[in-house]
Amino acid sequence: MPKIRKCPECKGIIKPGQTELNYELEQIDVSIRNVPASVCSQCGHAFIDGHIAEDVNRLVNRVAEDINSFSKTHPQMGERHREVAIAI
Ligand SMILES: [Zn+2]
Repeated sequence: MPKIRKCPECKGIIKPGQTELNYELEQIDVSIRNVPASVCSQCGHAFIDGHIAEDVNRLVNRVAEDINSFSKTHPQMGERHREVAIAI
């Protein structure tokens, strides 16, 4: 039987769910959606496992590199603020 986890913030019950992570990088903002997480059913606070956070970090770094080289070869994209959303 799985142990019931309680939220350290509000003592609400934590259930498996998904969350969204936002990264502000040098040239772009990256949002990663549908990240598996444990979510407090009361306050909505999301807790992400260490290995999932690592995987997401790796993904974001790779995407950032790709976007940087893309915008170098496609300067017509312009210098305006860029945003990328990824759903996993
Ligand atoms: Zn909570």
